[in-house]
Amino acid sequence: MKDATIHTPICIIGAGPAGTYAALNLAKQGIPSLLVDKAVFPRDKACGESLTSGVVRCLHRLDATLLQQPAFTKSRQVVNGVRLYAFNGRNFLLPFRSEANIAAGIESSIGIRRLDLDNILLDYARKHPLVQVMEGVHIQSVERVGGGLLLTSKDDGKRIQTELIVVANGYNSRLVKQLTEWDWEDETDACGLTAFYRNVEGISDSDTAEAFLLDELKTGAMYVMPVGKGVVNVNIAIRNDIRKRYDINLRETLAEVLATHPVLKQRFANAQPLGKPMGSGYHLGTKKRPVSGDNFLLVGDAGGFNDALTANGIAHAMESAEIAVRHILKNWEARQFTAAALRQFDKDVYRKFRQKRQLGFMATPMMTHPRLFRRFANLSFGLSGGSETLGKLMYAKNVWRVLASPGFHWSLVKMIWEKAMTELRSKFQKLGSAGA
Ligand SMILES: Cc1cc2nc3c(=O)[nH]c(=O)nc-3n(C[C@H](O)[C@H](O)[C@H](O)COP(=O)(O)OP(=O)(O)OC[C@H]3O[C@@H](n4cnc5c(N)ncnc54)[C@H](O)[C@@H]3O)c2cc1C
Repeated sequence: MKDATIHTPICIIGAGPAGTYAALNLAKQGIPSLLVDKAVFPRDKACGESLTSGVVRCLHRLDATLLQQPAFTKSRQVVNGVRLYAFNGRNFLLPFRSEANIAAGIESSIGIRRLDLDNILLDYARKHPLVQVMEGVHIQSVERVGGGLLLTSKDDGKRIQTELIVVANGYNSRLVKQLTEWDWEDETDACGLTAFYRNVEGISDSDTAEAFLLDELKTGAMYVMPVGKGVVNVNIAIRNDIRKRYDINLRETLAEVLATHPVLKQRFANAQPLGKPMGSGYHLGTKKRPVSGDNFLLVGDAGGFNDALTANGIAHAMESAEIAVRHILKNWEARQFTAAALRQFDKDVYRKFRQKRQLGFMATPMMTHPRLFRRFANLSFGLSGGSETLGKLMYAKNVWRVLASPGFHWSLVKMIWEKAMTELRSKFQKLGSAGA
């Protein structure tokens, strides 16, 4: 009987942003790959649908025409900033202005449904002769055979024999559990809920997203994001330890907040929900773990690369895929995919995300103490100049350098002084009018 096993030098498991970006970058270097996904596209994925400046740059690097193609321009919404609301209702507008993106002539931020984004990217991959796409193939097990790996699919027992797998199948990957010895007990993760609406007053076609810190969510947050075609994404992201500690039901909280919050109840008064809310999780990205080994590399959420503070993981998914491709290219001629040959990937990928990981780690005491977080947010949202300071930190190449500079501390002292003076003046005015 003829052996039905598929043979491929590289198999990429998962066609989300990490997997498809890896396949397309390999193809750009002349390296073929097989890209498999359990879903048949277009498929949705719980996400805030916010493409940060880093994602926009990744797409531009892949193909400078991609962002101008009709498939993209018809589906996306340019987002120029976010209005941030503290617990006490104080708010300010944080503009999205990445100097690197402006210099490249591209947007600093985009809102787009993952249903569209992932499908556009997969469609692009399908057209490339060096990328073979297989949809509806759920890889269930991986075992060592000879010098490589044998993958078997769940329902139809499809078998794929390969020299290297790029594991890009997202959060909570069973394959990662089979391949690594991560300490899952010691896992820090978060979860989220996403819902879509039409007819959201003042935001459906706006270029400004909104983010709300809410008592109901403790140190979590709710984001409202225009994602093109008049659709708005509402998304909650929260640490799992906080959600469990305060027994927060995300579906109930979503419904209650949209109906009662002073700003949101007006926006959503006539909103029409599109489908049911969807939930998902993500690793916080504050831990360092082995992300390569004999015949495998982990990229994107499967590698646990996220941004603990903002939940933005698409940029890290694409950037980790880009680093993986560099390492595959280095070892391609010799077909050396041993753990030793791939080990440098771990160093490079963790160096790339060092700043975000350190910030996430340092913010942990604040993110696990809701009262402290609430006080800090309410105070800092009241400072004039807070928007420029946050913008400076958000786009800084080296955040530590900004934080260590005397100018930064001087501007903080000035902001606090001005706030104290404003409060003092208003107290005197009140006293004056009470005495009159
Ligand atoms: C609530 C929430 C909000 C978020 N908001 C944002 C945001 O606004 N901006 C941002 O940048 N990031 C956001 N993120 C993070 C972002 O969604 C992820 O970082 C990103 O999707 C990671 O991409 P990926 O390709 O690694 O994995 P995924 O996008 O999860 O893709 C994995 C793919 O693998 C496939 N797959 C899974 N298992 C198998 C298998 N066994 N065999 C074959 N295929 C398989 C799946 O079908 C899927 O297509 C958010 C995450 C959550 C949970």
